[in-house]
Amino acid sequence: MGILEVKNVNKRFGGLQALGDVNLSVAENSVHAIIGPNGAGKSTLLNCLVGKLIPDTGSVMFDGQSVLGRKPYEINQMGISRVFQTPEIFGDLSVLENMMIPCFAKRDGAFHLSAIKNMMKDKEIIDTAEHMLEDMNMADKREMHAAAMSRGDKRRLEIGMCLSQEPRLLLLDEPTAGMARADTNNTIDLLKQISDERDITIAIIEHDMHVVFSLAQRITVLAQGTPLVEDTPDNIKGHPKVREAYLGE
Ligand code: ADP
Ligand code: MG
Repeated sequence: MGILEVKNVNKRFGGLQALGDVNLSVAENSVHAIIGPNGAGKSTLLNCLVGKLIPDTGSVMFDGQSVLGRKPYEINQMGISRVFQTPEIFGDLSVLENMMIPCFAKRDGAFHLSAIKNMMKDKEIIDTAEHMLEDMNMADKREMHAAAMSRGDKRRLEIGMCLSQEPRLLLLDEPTAGMARADTNNTIDLLKQISDERDITIAIIEHDMHVVFSLAQRITVLAQGTPLVEDTPDNIKGHPKVREAYLGE
C-alpha cells in the first residue's frame, strides 16, 4: 500500500473526459513523477488530490484515509501540501514575512490578513520562520522583497513555505516551468536534499525530462487522461509506447 492510493478516478468537464480510470500508487518516502503531454490531465489529477476538484467517480486515499469530500485546508491538515504551477507568494512582503505566514497558520490553525500586524511582532513566529529560511539556505535574503527574487528563489521560498507545515506528501506542479537552467538545477538539488533529509514523499508533475530522470524513482505516464504505463526511469526511457505518445516518436 502506498501513502497515496488513487483508484479508478474519473473526471469530466462537460463533454471532455479529462481523467479516465486513473490508478496511481505512490510509495511512502519515494519521489514519484507524473509526466505526459499538455492536456493529458496532470493538473486535473493533482487538483483531485488536494480537494480543488472532486472526481466524478473513484477514490483517493491518503495514509488509509479518504480525502474525498474534504476541503482543501482539511486535506492540507492531513499532511498534503502543494506547490502551484505559478509561484504563490506575496510579492509585496519580505521573504521573512512570507515565511511567517504558514508558520503562523500552522501554530494558530488559520491565517487571516487581518492578523498580519500581530504576526509581524510575534517573536516565536519570527524565530520559526528564520529557522526555516536557514534550512532553505535563504537566511541572507530575509529582508528582500519577495517579488524581486529570481524565479528559482521564489520557488525555493514557496517550497520552504510548504515544508514549514511539515507535510508528509509534497505535490509539485511543474516546479521548474519557465526557469533558466541554473535555477532548474538548483531546484533539482533542493528537492533531492528534501527527499534525502526529510521523512517526506514527493509527487511531481514535470515536463522537463532532465528533472524527472534526476529525481524520480517511479514514473507514471499519463496520456489523454489515462495512465499509459508506470515504471522505473530506466524502463520508461526505453518504453516504445512512451516514446510514441510522449516523445513524439
Ligand atoms: P495538463 O496539466 O496535463 O496539461 P490539465 O489537467 O490541465 O492537463 O487538462 C486536461 C484537460 O482538461 C485539457 O483538455 C483541459 O483543457 C481540460 N480542462 C482542465 N481544467 C478544466 C476546467 N476547469 N474546465 C474545462 N476543461 C478543463
Ligand atoms: Mg498542467
